[in-house]
Amino acid sequence: MGYATFLSLIIIIIYVITILKKGEKMSKLIKVISLAIVGLFSTLLVANTVFANEVNVFSARHYDSDVQLYEKFTAKNGIKVNVVSGKDKALQKRIKEEGKDSKADIYITADAGRLGAFQAEGMFQKGASSAALKKVVPANFRSPYWVGIAKRARIIYYNPKTVNPSWNMSYENLADPKYKGRVVIRKSSNIYNQSLVASLIKNNGEKNTAAWAKGMVNNFARKPTGNDRAQILAVAAGEADWAVANTYYLALMLSGKKGAEQQAAAKKVMPFFPNQDGRGTHMNISGGGILKHAPNKANAVKLLEFLLTPEAQQHIVNNTFEYPMIPGVKANKLIAQFGLDFKQDLKTKVSNYGKLQAKALKVMNEAGW
Ligand code: FE
Repeated sequence: MGYATFLSLIIIIIYVITILKKGEKMSKLIKVISLAIVGLFSTLLVANTVFANEVNVFSARHYDSDVQLYEKFTAKNGIKVNVVSGKDKALQKRIKEEGKDSKADIYITADAGRLGAFQAEGMFQKGASSAALKKVVPANFRSPYWVGIAKRARIIYYNPKTVNPSWNMSYENLADPKYKGRVVIRKSSNIYNQSLVASLIKNNGEKNTAAWAKGMVNNFARKPTGNDRAQILAVAAGEADWAVANTYYLALMLSGKKGAEQQAAAKKVMPFFPNQDGRGTHMNISGGGILKHAPNKANAVKLLEFLLTPEAQQHIVNNTFEYPMIPGVKANKLIAQFGLDFKQDLKTKVSNYGKLQAKALKVMNEAGW
């Protein structure tokens, strides 16, 4: 119970007792004043219960460490964080169905493509672009509706025993016929792939990207299957020379958190950051936006701003192996060992991933991906 709630409750009780006891002897004026005070404090009590100091986070990120982070926020600001976690589609469905009655303030998820597509349905309000957020988050990693919280790169992995990429190898090069039957990547339904292909469409045009997708499919070592780690495992097992997967998965495997077998496999594979002589390596984000019907908007802004402080960023990157969004925060050593000075694609705005998502999926499906 909050301080104001407690105080209101005590005052109401005192007045009610007084009125009941001395009701007969009280003058009319005193009675009216007493009832008015009871009314005022009852209203305060209700208001304090309804407008509790809290923020409701709907999160599709499956990290226990995020909960520890929210606890830090509460300790600092006195704002309680209520977390509803679940799968993206289920959370989005719930938010849409509940409409105006939704208690959700912030929706947090991985991939700018997901955030962009949800915004295209009009689900966010402007507010993820406070002055404080604009100051610390580069323009290509935010929109007025959502903001990047951490970065990840979708890179190439190779088997150093069989191939050796030139320093300027690109995503585009993976479609070269000389790699026939030697490339693995997950399905076209995967959001990370849709965002990667969207960035290729943005930079190379739809026609060229359609030809590239056909080349990729010709080079597949197998029908796309499994998650990102499964692609890295395929290279480790010699089933392919090249794979595409997000950076943090290799670090996760090397950490041993996915078992000794995956840890050993990860050591057999090398990460490679493509497009170094061009636009740079494809970057994506984990991010969040404030929902259209957020009941606690001010608290939601505060929470997003907190997530972009050095303290919170350090916590995030140590637990998820993502890259920090703000300067001055060190990446975890399992990810830093791959090198941090690679050229990131900072020109292609990640808001394009959602905008070009449908085209990206079409291009892949037409290539038989
Ligand atoms: Fe992931």
